[in-house]
Amino acid sequence: MSDTVVRQLDDVRRRILGACSRSERDPDSVELIAVSKTFPVADIRDAMGCGQRLFGESRLQEATPKVEGLPADLEWHFIGRVQRNKVRKILPLFPFVHAVDSLKLACHIDAVAGEMGMRPKVFLQVNQAGELSKGGFDPGELETAMDAIRGFRHVETVGLMTIPPAVEDPEESRAWFSGLRQLRDDLSQRFSMDLPFLSMGMSGDFEIAIEEGASHVRVGSSIFGNREYKVPGELG
Ligand SMILES: *Cc1c(COP(=O)(O)O)cnc(C)c1O
Repeated sequence: MSDTVVRQLDDVRRRILGACSRSERDPDSVELIAVSKTFPVADIRDAMGCGQRLFGESRLQEATPKVEGLPADLEWHFIGRVQRNKVRKILPLFPFVHAVDSLKLACHIDAVAGEMGMRPKVFLQVNQAGELSKGGFDPGELETAMDAIRGFRHVETVGLMTIPPAVEDPEESRAWFSGLRQLRDDLSQRFSMDLPFLSMGMSGDFEIAIEEGASHVRVGSSIFGNREYKVPGELG
């Protein structure tokens, strides 16, 4: 057992509690997703030993043996870009899909989930800064898309997700996080929909995301260490 993961996970948890206390939030309203992409099963087991239950992966091929080989009481979150032809394999492994980035994809997931008798929980990814390198709905187009998405019967739209532009000082991300919360509040009111979750905040900025209302933070390197290789088509 490596005490590095244990120590770092503990430190992340303490920082989450600090952010909750600063913003007067109930710590139970914030979920930590340990992003284990590129890291071995042994590291996941170390985190499990400390009671960690939510894990995030972004590539189906890498994730499949991990999910299938570990105890079934873990909760897996697919946080990577979703390829259409992989949906059928993603759904049975991952009850949560974070990066649903177009109406077409949402529609396809709804159809596949219907055929398979499943009901995945999905986050709609928002590309707030309009970055070409990233997927996601344009905030303006989300309203139109939501009108269709709320009619889907086999996906449960639980909230919004964002990956803001890379910055040196995490304070610069604050406005993107509060903007996502505002967008969620607007959509929720406009469509009388419950959109309880906001998936935002990574190693560099999760405390700020929590102060701005994150329900799910996706933290990899602060728990497991630096990744030795990049996942194709991903940041970090
Ligand atoms: C890799 C990844 C993370 C975790 O990034 P860290 O900076 O290592 O915490 C979070 N979200 C997404 C979508 C990722 O691809």
